[in-house]
Amino acid sequence: MNVLVLNVGSATVKFQLMQTDMERIEKDADETLAKGLVERIGGEAVLTLWTQSRGSWRTSASIRDIAGAISWILRWLTSEDSGVGITSIADIEAVGNRVVHGGERFAQSVLVDEEVLKALEDQIELAPLHMPFNLAGIRAVKEALGGIPQAAVFDTAFHSTLPETSYLYAIPYSLYRRHKIRRYGFHGTSHRYVAYRYRQLTGKTREETHLVTLHLGNGCSACAIRGGDSMDTSMGFTPLEGLVMGTRAGDVDPAVLDFISVKEGLDLRGVENLLNKQSGLLGISGLTNDMRELLEEAEEHYDRRARLAIDIFCYRVRKYIGAYLAAMGGADAVAFTGGIGQNSPVVRAAVLDGLEWAGLVLDKKANKTMVGNKSGRISTDESSLAAWVIPTDEELLIARDTVRMVLGVSTRN
Ligand code: AMP
Repeated sequence: MNVLVLNVGSATVKFQLMQTDMERIEKDADETLAKGLVERIGGEAVLTLWTQSRGSWRTSASIRDIAGAISWILRWLTSEDSGVGITSIADIEAVGNRVVHGGERFAQSVLVDEEVLKALEDQIELAPLHMPFNLAGIRAVKEALGGIPQAAVFDTAFHSTLPETSYLYAIPYSLYRRHKIRRYGFHGTSHRYVAYRYRQLTGKTREETHLVTLHLGNGCSACAIRGGDSMDTSMGFTPLEGLVMGTRAGDVDPAVLDFISVKEGLDLRGVENLLNKQSGLLGISGLTNDMRELLEEAEEHYDRRARLAIDIFCYRVRKYIGAYLAAMGGADAVAFTGGIGQNSPVVRAAVLDGLEWAGLVLDKKANKTMVGNKSGRISTDESSLAAWVIPTDEELLIARDTVRMVLGVSTRN
C-alpha cells in the first residue's frame, strides 16, 4: 500500500511516500519511495526532495499556502520528473497525518471522518500554534484526494496511559475539571517507536519493557516507560515544560513570568514567546540553538557560555533520568534518540556521567561509533542499567498505524 505521510507546520510541509503493508511490517521491509520538505510557504518556497530512484535535489517554487504545497507535492510525486514510478494520484492509497494534540479524547491513532475532524477543531485551543496547520493539511488532502482514507496519529496519544499522579498539576482540581489543564506530553510517536525498537533489539516483551527514553533534538523530552506504557513524561500541558531545548526553557518557576513581564515591559504573550523562542540553549549561550555549533564553540574557541549551555542541558537530562528511575523503581535501560541523542557521543557521555551508582557504565568505544542512523548498546556488558542509541522514525510509525487502521487491525504495538 502506498501511504503518504504528512507533517504540516506553520510554513512547512514535511512528507514521505512509503510502501508498506502487513507483510512488509512483519518483515520490517517497508520502503521509502520519496520524501521531502517544503519550507517558507507563503512566498518563494524552498523544496528539498529525495526519491529512491533519483537521489536528492533542491528547487524552489512560488507556493501560497498549505493547500498549494500539498498540490505541488502530489503533482511532483506523480510526474515523470520525480521518478517515483506512480502516474496517478489514485496510486496513493492512504494518508497518515501527524497531529500534535489528541487531548483526552484520542488515546490512539484514528481514521479521520467528519466527527473526528470536528473533535479536532474543538481542540485547537490546546495547541493553537500547531493544530490549525495540522488540520489545514487534512482539509487540503480531502480537497485534492476526495474520500481517501486519512489517519491522524497524535503526539500525545502514547502518553494517554499516564496515571493521575503524573498528569495532574497541583493547582485547584476544578481547573482540570473545567479546562482540562493537565500534563499531556508530546513526542509520543517517537517514544513509542523507540520502545518498540528496543523490544525488537533485545527480544523483550512489551510487559518486560522498563525504559527511560530521551528524545534530544531541537525539542527535547524524557519518558518513563514501565511495562511498555508511558507512566511519566517531561513535556506538560504544552511542549514548553521539562528539559532544556534548543530555544525552549523547560522547567522554570512560574512566578518568573510576572517578574519578567514587569521588568521587561512585556505582556504575557511576550513572556511566553521569550520562554519558547529565545531561551534554552540559545538563551544561555547567546549564540545558537544548534547543539553541534555549540559543541564546536565550546571545544574550539573555549566559549564559556556555550559550555555552560551544554552543561545545563546535560545536567537537566541526568536529573530527569534519576527522577524517573526513582519513580519507576528502576529500569532496564536508558535510550537516546533525536538529532542530538543519535549523533553526539559527547553529550551522551556527559548526560550519563556519574550514573555508576545506578549500575550504568558507559562503553566509551561503542558510544563513539554510535552515530548517524546506527542503533546499538553503548553501556558495558556488566552494566545492570543499560544505555542504548535507537534512531527514531516517526514517519514509519505513522505509515504503519495508517495501514493497520485502513485494514482494521489493532495499532497497539
Ligand atoms: P532534530 O530536531 O532531532 O533534527 O535535532 C536537531 C539537533 O541535533 C540540533 O541541535 C543539531 O545541532 C543536533 N545535532 C545534529 N547532529 C549533531 C552532531 N553530530 N553532534 C551534535 N549535535 C548534533
